[in-house]
Amino acid sequence: MMGLSRDGGLLVPHNVPDVRDQLESWTGCTFAELAGHIMTEFVDDIPEQDLQALIDKSYSRFDHDRITPVVPVDDFHILELFHGPTLAFKDIALQFLGNVFEYILKDSGGCLNILGATSGDTGSAAIEGVRGKDSINIFILFPEGRTSAVQERQMTTVPDKNVFNIAIDGSFDDCQSLIKNIFSDLDFKDEYHLGAVNSVNWARVLAQIVYYFFAWFELGKPRVFDVAVPTGNFGDIFAGYLARNMGLPINKLILATNSNDILARFFNTGVYSRGEVHFSESPAMDIQVSSNFERYLWYQLAGSSDKVNEFMTSFQQTGTARLDFNTRRFDESFVAGSASDAQTLDTIQHYHQQFGYLADPHTAVGICVAKRYRDPDVPLLCVATAHPAKFEGAISRALPGETVSHPRLELLKDLPSRKEHLPVDVEAVKKYIVKNSS
Ligand SMILES: *Cc1c(COP(=O)(O)O)cnc(C)c1O
Repeated sequence: MMGLSRDGGLLVPHNVPDVRDQLESWTGCTFAELAGHIMTEFVDDIPEQDLQALIDKSYSRFDHDRITPVVPVDDFHILELFHGPTLAFKDIALQFLGNVFEYILKDSGGCLNILGATSGDTGSAAIEGVRGKDSINIFILFPEGRTSAVQERQMTTVPDKNVFNIAIDGSFDDCQSLIKNIFSDLDFKDEYHLGAVNSVNWARVLAQIVYYFFAWFELGKPRVFDVAVPTGNFGDIFAGYLARNMGLPINKLILATNSNDILARFFNTGVYSRGEVHFSESPAMDIQVSSNFERYLWYQLAGSSDKVNEFMTSFQQTGTARLDFNTRRFDESFVAGSASDAQTLDTIQHYHQQFGYLADPHTAVGICVAKRYRDPDVPLLCVATAHPAKFEGAISRALPGETVSHPRLELLKDLPSRKEHLPVDVEAVKKYIVKNSS
């Protein structure tokens, strides 16, 4: 529940369990059963029965009976992670996180006020994860008028009394600096039990490991397979990396970025160097500094916190850090590339026209890069991170005249919405939290 560790670093499990001996016995498990087996490997302070009940509850709100179905397209497969309440893959982790937080707070008698900033998908997934929960309130800041209409409706139509949407008259950066500023007031943070559910939370990574295993079983347990992952904060693909380290036979992890390609450059050159943020057709990946990357470094640097610290300090101070490659590439298990907006829209068009599959722009980035780097003799799995109906604009640019909808989004159109308008003013936001916190 602490998110960041006290020294400002990220939390990682020291040992990654090797589950190769158990894989055979997990054949035929449902998604929730498999999640129970995998999470039990990491969780030693929640009784197994309770953990399984939390998992079952977390995936009961998905609208597909396989939870994360694998579907064939062309000569590869797509792993659809968007069947949760907000139609983006973040539901898989945040539904679980909300239930775990509630369970822990019930046990300890505590309460929690979650504070977050969003430019789009994370806010609604976090709200859906904790709406109506005892002892938890959630305050989400978003830039007024800068999120899409769909994304705003997904947040502001939630009627539960523990949900507080705050529309800030400013940019997403203003929202983030307000949050940073409030968290840095440690007395305030303690007094009002402030917490976060951002992507550095370890429990989110844990929940995401599961679907890599599930997909392998759904594919019929191939000897090896490649996985392509559209990447922003490096959380999704990092879970794949852990699955691989646990013994899942992933051949290559294909890391796909949009024009915000800091990670693609790193895996090809060893240089990690900050650029300007570009706004793209895949906005959930418009990120320059990927928070989970630090975790990956720790494992690659043989668990040396000093070396991670040196790397991150150099990056913070100069905007650049480098690792010397001993081998041809830093890590042979990764290949990486980026897709432009034009390539993304072409990919959407191609797969819709040739194969009748409508990919959202994030998924299309992954498919585009995967086609460039895949080994044709190895089965390929592309991860689909959002339902296309969330990104109507990109779909209509790729496929003029085409409309796309989803019943969950249609339902929101007639619901009343609620939000509080506040200026870019720390004191105003604090005052609002004080007034509404439990
Ligand atoms: C968050 C998100 C991503 C990026 O995932 P990371 O774990 O941050 O790499 C990709 N696609 C969609 C739709 C997302 O919401």
